Amino acid sequence: MPDGSFKLDIVTPAKALERDQPVVSVIVPAAEGYLGILPGHAPLIAELVPGEIRVTRATGAEETMATSGGFLEVTPERVTILADTAERPDEIDVERAREALARAQERLASPPPGTDIDRARAALARATARLRVAGQIR
Ligand code: ATP
Repeated sequence: MPDGSFKLDIVTPAKALERDQPVVSVIVPAAEGYLGILPGHAPLIAELVPGEIRVTRATGAEETMATSGGFLEVTPERVTILADTAERPDEIDVERAREALARAQERLASPPPGTDIDRARAALARATARLRVAGQIR
């Protein structure tokens, strides 16, 4: 590994997005708020919530991905993100995310009897993260 960098793996049930990629920082959406990992971070396991994963590569390139949640593990050797879903900006279907957002907003605005509010909130958060990463909302 180049000095001041660490290895990053990002894995979803569908595919491995990253394996052994040298990076200098990773920012993840943890349950308590956004969490930044720099080289030498103490070992840690954290639960992730819907939001943006921001990666700065050893080359200086920055990338963003949308995630719907999962887990982060930091060890002395590497950082591993086990994500339920993770999409790069060009993988995001903007129309689908807009529809998901509209459905969730509608459910929350006038919940039919029996609506699972937490589920609607989670769907809203997933769609919002996707639209942010796709550059559709700020
Ligand atoms: P929807 O209601 O549109 O299915 P969702 O938030 O319920 O959205 P998830 O359960 O988080 O969807 O994801 C299911 C699968 O679909 C995952 O593989 C995820 O990467 C993919 N996916 C969901 N929404 C999008 C999108 N807008 N663009 C690209 N892939 C998506």
